[in-house]
Amino acid sequence: STARIPQLSGNDEISDLARQFNGMLDQIQQYIEQQKQFVGDVSHELRTPIAVIQGHLQLLNRWGKDDPEVLAESLAAATQETARMNNLIEEMLQLTRAEQVEIKTVHEQTNVQAVISQSVDNIQMLHQDFAIQADVELAPQTFVRMNRNHLEQIIIILLDNAVKYSAARKEVLLSADSDQQHVNIVVQDFGLGISPQDQQRIFDRFYRVDKARSRERGGNGLGLSIAFRLVKAYGGTLTVESVVDSGSQFKVSLPRDNGPISPENLPHQDDQS
Ligand code: ADP
Repeated sequence: STARIPQLSGNDEISDLARQFNGMLDQIQQYIEQQKQFVGDVSHELRTPIAVIQGHLQLLNRWGKDDPEVLAESLAAATQETARMNNLIEEMLQLTRAEQVEIKTVHEQTNVQAVISQSVDNIQMLHQDFAIQADVELAPQTFVRMNRNHLEQIIIILLDNAVKYSAARKEVLLSADSDQQHVNIVVQDFGLGISPQDQQRIFDRFYRVDKARSRERGGNGLGLSIAFRLVKAYGGTLTVESVVDSGSQFKVSLPRDNGPISPENLPHQDDQS
């Protein structure tokens, strides 16, 4: 560990300064550890697709030129792994940006119902074999004070996971309600569930309960950490309740915007409601 100023026990200003200084050193040390962990994780994650591509290049080199089957298979695998690396790097960039610059919060009035129905439609479109149900008990004019894309990102991450980690029952339920202070959005699945130990770690970067399953579904352990940071940046909370082999429930709670309705959100003349 780093050099520290010897602990002074006095109540004077110098002892006080010494304590503050040591506190800062601890924080810096912790930050360095996090960065190391991050670089380590990234290198590890990139190693697998690179190894797969290398393997296929060797195959191609030996047999591929004469064997159309090997050629086709290796090219497809290399293409897929390249796409995976691309995704990974893109998300990592997003995450480092989010970490270093902090998330750029934008405080605009965002209609929760509109974002929910758009997100549900998007996920439903991508997974037509699923029933994505929405049970929204919100007045049409329920707002949060945050960037619309950020809210959409949070909801999509949760819906996407719910689909990814479902089992036989291809059903996902999104419910939403509000009180004076908060808007609550719950995404529930009836799939694999998460053990209590894992529940403590799933919001960490790169943490995946079942690496094989996550990878097979295009996951890399970043979604929930991004969602968590976003929710937190807007003063909300993201929590999980889950039972293994029964399903999971992710709950987002965001401060409600009770301010005057912005002009762009005023009901239009021709609106029915
Ligand atoms: P990934 O890209 O792997 O899905 P996330 O950060 O979104 O990364 O999630 C981290 C891990 O938490 C996942 O790998 C998975 O093991 C677990 N997880 C997330 N959502 C669910 C869910 N709805 N049901 C079961 N497990 C989940």
